[in-house]
Amino acid sequence: MRGLITRIVTYAALALAFMLPVCASVWMSYRLALSEQQLHTGILAAEVLYRVHVFSEQNLRINAALRRHGATSPCSPDNVALMRNLAVGASYLQVVGYVEGNVLQCSSYGYGDGDAGIPIGPPAYRSRLGNWVRTSVKLPFDESRRYIALTDSVTGYSSLALPDMLLDTGGGGHGFAIALVAISNRQIVVQRDPIDLGGMPPLIRERGTITWQHRGATGSVSLSPSRDYAAVVMSPASALHANWRNVATWLVPFGALLGGALVALARLGLRRRHGLLRQLDRALRDDELSLAYMPIVELESGKWIGAEALMRWCHDGQWIAPDKFIPLAERHHRIRKLTNRMLDLLVADAQALPRDLARAMYFSVNLSAEDLAACAIAQRVADVRQACGVDGVMVEATEGVLLEASRVIPNIERLRKLGIRVAIDDFGTGYSSLSYLGSLDVDYIKIDKSFVSAIGTNSVRGHVVAHIIDMAKDVGVAVIAEGVETQEQADYLMARGVRYAQGWLFGKAMPMQDFVSAIRMHNLYYKNCMQKRQVL
Ligand code: C2E
Ligand code: CA
Ligand code: CA
Repeated sequence: MRGLITRIVTYAALALAFMLPVCASVWMSYRLALSEQQLHTGILAAEVLYRVHVFSEQNLRINAALRRHGATSPCSPDNVALMRNLAVGASYLQVVGYVEGNVLQCSSYGYGDGDAGIPIGPPAYRSRLGNWVRTSVKLPFDESRRYIALTDSVTGYSSLALPDMLLDTGGGGHGFAIALVAISNRQIVVQRDPIDLGGMPPLIRERGTITWQHRGATGSVSLSPSRDYAAVVMSPASALHANWRNVATWLVPFGALLGGALVALARLGLRRRHGLLRQLDRALRDDELSLAYMPIVELESGKWIGAEALMRWCHDGQWIAPDKFIPLAERHHRIRKLTNRMLDLLVADAQALPRDLARAMYFSVNLSAEDLAACAIAQRVADVRQACGVDGVMVEATEGVLLEASRVIPNIERLRKLGIRVAIDDFGTGYSSLSYLGSLDVDYIKIDKSFVSAIGTNSVRGHVVAHIIDMAKDVGVAVIAEGVETQEQADYLMARGVRYAQGWLFGKAMPMQDFVSAIRMHNLYYKNCMQKRQVL
């Protein structure tokens, strides 16, 4: 079941590693297409605004010229001739004329166009520059088209232009809607194709050009800095989608390539890790694991009183460090199997210990969080002690393990009730070791090697050693110093009242056979020394 879950999680992580760059590239192509669309509509709006501006300027100039001419009657033949000249010289307007009472009385097309003139209807509104604006003027000589007409409210002189000349920039494509709107009331003055101004933000002149999205369509409005009009261009959602597709066709393959590379890298890492994990599973099956025993000594007498059992793995003639495979086993839930094997090996190795030696010593074993949370662990360790025939067994657990799991504490109590001693391993490396020392019921603390190595070096850690020892004394917990390599360290610890230690100064971790002969030799020497001491 656990394997299945791990596999599902792995595949989900791999799928995520692939999908993330792919999704990112899809999103990026959308953003790129959108900004391109906004740029496009923005440029078109600016072009339309420019044309309208030129038309407005031409209208002003024509008005001024007609005013300067000062004809006795606006529709006199010489004034109409001037109108004709002026119309020819202005690129964006087609007709120049004179309007009075909603009637085009005369124009550059001819005097009066018949005495009655041409009715052009009432104006739509009055612009900020004082012009009457008509947006749909029909002229008899050009029935099919509608003109936009600007009439000076004082002189009546007018300019007429074809909206297409202003709006049809030739840019944009199918479905692009273009309009001229009045800034003051947001009313459409003229438009090319029906335009939906829903979603258009407030027209703030200072912003120059504003873009927005509405129902998938992209809009841009370019505002005149001084006059009451703005050019609006709306491109349809289909244009954005087509653009998106275009960008995506080259960007998404890149994303897929990157995703593929990520998956390949992740699989390589997994295969390496799972390679070691598979080898560890095989090691558990094929007896590649063994134990090495590191002597624990009584500092005062030098007597070997016990040994820490340390796991060893020899794979294809190479030793693999416990710091590598123990955390791997913990991460992949193999640690309980490994601990079980360790305890079995301990029982098997202990048979090599002569009875008298066994009865006088104890073994220390390292347990992980998952081991200590297991219901039957206390009884299992007690059974191991019984089977080994040793005086005692000690369990070592790091402070993190002791503090975190709620099921661990009751098991610690159970172990101690069964006469198993408990030690906090690597003491001092956690965040708050000293603060909780008094609240945990344990027999020993093992001062971490990093502190012991710092003895006599004047570093902060060196000073902390003394502090740890004093505090342990205060709360009545015995201290085992780990990683003692020099006599100077041993002397310092002894002087501070530390009773037990282990480290290369006394002996490295060794197989059981070597341990048996070493302990015998060592303790015989120790016995002789003690006897000599008594005689003297
Ligand atoms: P640990 O429990 O703190 O074990 C002490 C480590 O420090 C051992 O390394 C030991 O060889 C080393 N050491 C002891 N004295 C000295 C010294 O004077 N100088 C130097 N340089 N090193 C010294 P080892 O055997 O490589 O074990 C590493 C860690 O692996 C252990 O740290 C322990 O956390 C873990 N481990 C080993 N066996 C087991 C096991 O059976 N079960 C579990 N859960 N963890 C184990
Ligand atoms: Ca240990
Ligand atoms: Ca340690």
